[in-house]
Order: sequence, then C-alpha cells, then structure tokens
Amino acid sequence: MSIVDCRECGKPVSDEAKQCPHCGVENPYFKAHLMAQAARAAANHRTPEEGVLKKILRRFTYVAIAIVAVLTLIGKAPAILAALAKPSCEVVSVKPEPDLFLTDGEADAGVKVTALVRKLNRDGEITVSIRLSTSEGDWVKATTGVMKTNEQRNAILQFPEPTVNAQNIRAEATCKG
Ligand SMILES: [Zn+2]
Repeated sequence: MSIVDCRECGKPVSDEAKQCPHCGVENPYFKAHLMAQAARAAANHRTPEEGVLKKILRRFTYVAIAIVAVLTLIGKAPAILAALAKPSCEVVSVKPEPDLFLTDGEADAGVKVTALVRKLNRDGEITVSIRLSTSEGDWVKATTGVMKTNEQRNAILQFPEPTVNAQNIRAEATCKG
C-alpha cells in the first residue's frame, strides 16, 4: 500500500482506498485513470504549432517531388520519342543457298536463306521476313526473336518448296520491331 493523490481532489489517499476520505469520489486511485492522464500529457507534449508546421513541410515536399518528376519527364520526352521513331533493326546481308531438308523422313532439295540482322537503338522483339523468288515461284516466311541493342544474329529460314531445277534464285529480307 502507498499514499497517492486523489484523482478528483488531489489530496493524499491510500492507493487501496475504495473511496476518497476528503471528497468522497469512488476509486480515488486506479490505473486506467493514470494511463489516461499519461496519454493526455503525451498528446499535449507536441504543440499544435509544431504539428501544423510539419504538415506544411510534408505537403511542400510532396509538391516539390511531383514538380521535379514532371519536369524530368517533359525534358526526356523528346529523347524518348526520337528513340522510338528511329528504325529498330537493319538487315546486314541475305544469302540464299541450295540445301537438303528432311521432309517426312526423306531428303528433299530446297533453299536455305540466311539473313544477318542487327538490332538498333533499343532492346526488344523484331520480326524478320524473307521473300524467296525463283523460276518456280515466290514464297514469304517470317521469324521473330528478342534481341539486345547492337546485337547481330542470323535469321535462318528453310524453303523446301523449290526443286533442284529452280532457276533465278533470289532472296530479300526486311525486319521490323
Ligand atoms: Zn478526493
């Protein structure tokens, strides 16, 4: 048992007293009352002026970050648009050559076309289209792949359609991405 201040009148009272002998309030000392008092004291410790100032500073920081972000985007927009407008790839060389393919388990004469392609300006997917022209007809085939900027790669397409008798074999390739 110890002597504490009555929560109502502030006069000394036992912490086990059911009633204050001075003012008659019930439970003159109890923990919930003290905890509420402590919470009030903590809340009062930060003055309203400090709170408002912090809020203004925080809002100013958000606005400043937003302005910088917008200015950065506007500044970079022309560069981004220019990069997107530039061609994404180029065909370096195209070479058709007679070849043998396995069709249904049997050797079949045809033409293999190898197109060397270079990726430009940005990473991404490209589609390479190859047109094979012969005395027996024209065929177009395409293949896609993902490449890194400045990477070079062979796109190889097989055309089993022409026979060994095909003449005037020519191939051209285009790419887009
Ligand atoms: Zn009292």
